[in-house]
Amino acid sequence: MMRLPEFTYLAPRTLGDAAKALAEHGADAMVVAGGTDLYPNMKRRQFEPKVLVGLRGIRELRGVRGSAPEGLTIGAGTTLSAVAAHPEVGARYPALAAAAGLVSSPQLRNMGTLGGNVCVDTRCNYYNQSFEWRKAVGFCMKKDGDICLVAPGSPRCWAVSSSDTAPVLWSLGATVRLVAATGERTVPVSGLYRDDGIAYLAKQRDEILADVTLPPADGWKSAYLKLRRRGSFDFPVLGVAVALRLRGGRVGGARIVLGAVASTPRPAESAAAALAGERLTPEVIARVADLAAGPSKPLDNTDFTHPYRKKMTRVLVARALRSLAGPGAGGGAVEEVA
Ligand SMILES: Cc1cc2nc3c(=O)[nH]c(=O)nc-3n(C[C@H](O)[C@H](O)[C@H](O)COP(=O)(O)OP(=O)(O)OC[C@H]3O[C@@H](n4cnc5c(N)ncnc54)[C@H](O)[C@@H]3O)c2cc1C
Ligand code: SF4
Repeated sequence: MMRLPEFTYLAPRTLGDAAKALAEHGADAMVVAGGTDLYPNMKRRQFEPKVLVGLRGIRELRGVRGSAPEGLTIGAGTTLSAVAAHPEVGARYPALAAAAGLVSSPQLRNMGTLGGNVCVDTRCNYYNQSFEWRKAVGFCMKKDGDICLVAPGSPRCWAVSSSDTAPVLWSLGATVRLVAATGERTVPVSGLYRDDGIAYLAKQRDEILADVTLPPADGWKSAYLKLRRRGSFDFPVLGVAVALRLRGGRVGGARIVLGAVASTPRPAESAAAALAGERLTPEVIARVADLAAGPSKPLDNTDFTHPYRKKMTRVLVARALRSLAGPGAGGGAVEEVA
């Protein structure tokens, strides 16, 4: 049995106190929300914080405020189950409800939070292993070593962004509020990630993600499709998030963002641009799906072969677009199990 290393757990009651504690303990401290990813990682010695700043007791981080016409703000501490079940999220931002509802298993969605999902660690077959396994094979640069076992000779880590909600929030044009002891700032989700398997967040260590704001739904429809081996439990090895607005049957705006094909969610910009002004005919959908597969560049470091994951990008983008083509359609939970 893998055991947790020793650490001190702090339980602040306000966001301000949490930010102060994080600043005070510097590099020794990490934030923990639901703990569904961090605790297993600590058991595998991927993280060894001396201090954990727990967010579960902070009431101001929980709940959903606002309305779809004016925009919704979701506290980072809101559980994935609550996000998935929220009536306005389900009706007006269905891709987000779908993505939150497809994370892992019911138990983990009851504990896991939206903020933790947005900040969740990147993954790799050579990294998400026990300490003994990693030691036997040889440590890699993401933890304890200095080379990449997937791409030896590479100066960087290629671990995979594996959050279900991150590509969806990016496609919806969401922003996040980051709070530190010294102040706060708001950044678009598209600016929160870096294409680096180790330093994958463009956020300072002492910043706490306080909430996520969705812009007014304003006629936008959305869909999220996920590829994974098992019908429950598994991380995505491909996620496809599509948001678009139809005006008189033609596309008035679109965003397509791919998950789990790089160390960051990756926008398929030329594919989205090719939708502008078009009707969602089978020919347009096929052309756009082909374009969307271009930026999908998975490596051989997760489940399924990388050529298959690239091929499935085209398939899932086409399915997502078809699900949004009908009148009143709002892409809900569609899941792909191979
Ligand atoms: C078996 C298993 C299956 C899983 N399947 C999936 C899956 O299918 N899809 C998926 O997306 N995830 C999956 N996960 C990962 C995880 O359960 C989810 O991503 C979950 O949403 C993480 O939320 P949490 O609140 O538990 O985060 P925690 O584990 O508490 O934290 C995760 C990371 O985020 C940081 N963090 C948390 N909250 C904040 C905040 N407010 N501000 C700044 N940093 C913060 C922590 O420091 C830590 O680095 C799985 C995990 C397991 C163990
Ligand atoms: S991509 Fe390379 S450096 Fe990164 S976790 Fe995998 S083996 Fe390690």
